[in-house]
Amino acid sequence: MEIRVLGCHGSQLPGCGLTSFLIDGTTLVDAGAVTSVLALEEQARVEHILVTHAHLDHIRELSSLADNLCYFRRGTPLWVVAPEGVIAQLRKHIFNGAIWPDFSAIPSAENPVLRFMAVRPGEASSLGHLRVTAIPVHHTVETVAYVVDAGTGSGAPAAVFIGDTGPTDEVWAVAGQDRVRAVFVETSLPGELGDLARLTGHLTPADLAAELGKLGRANQPQIYLYHMKIQYLNEIQQEISLLGNVNIHVLSDGQVIRI
Ligand SMILES: [Zn+2]
Ligand SMILES: [Zn+2]
Repeated sequence: MEIRVLGCHGSQLPGCGLTSFLIDGTTLVDAGAVTSVLALEEQARVEHILVTHAHLDHIRELSSLADNLCYFRRGTPLWVVAPEGVIAQLRKHIFNGAIWPDFSAIPSAENPVLRFMAVRPGEASSLGHLRVTAIPVHHTVETVAYVVDAGTGSGAPAAVFIGDTGPTDEVWAVAGQDRVRAVFVETSLPGELGDLARLTGHLTPADLAAELGKLGRANQPQIYLYHMKIQYLNEIQQEISLLGNVNIHVLSDGQVIRI
């Protein structure tokens, strides 16, 4: 599985993309930075997008992606994959014919640009060559993590993409399974803003250390951090280095990870 980091920041500034990962060129996790990063031909190869939650920093370039694909005329829809509640929010607040066109009925309801696919947390779905399972996490709105298995065989490696979250349990139990090679998890704020992190459903480095304690396995997966507020990047990185965990890596935009 090849994971390309299109955007890994918790704030947007020139050169700093919002959350978006591209798996094997065909499956996105979130859409904070897609059309501002990918060439049109690369955008046209995207078949599925896994949406963790409907906050704007995770979906904002879904609107421009839909618009671009409308004129690319590739003949197959872009599947927007999310729990039913998240899809309802996208339909009501974005693709509502007022803020943005309803691309699930354009150019026609029979052959639209977008189709929505509701997933039930805990149930695996096959998306192309990948197997995907949503798991609820704890943020201020309905949010899920996605466990992505690189195939259906029992030996296939897996990666876990944890959406915005504060302390949570269920997904760490899955991330602790041996097939999981990589965990992508937010660390948005420094310790001095711990109260704000709790209020807004995010993690500090100290929270992250407590979360990693839930993995319960000797050989931990590689841990990739993202969604940092840029104003506090140095402070957060210092606190992370003090954790002294060699498996922890801070992501950069454009990085490619193979598992
Ligand atoms: Zn959020
Ligand atoms: Zn966010």
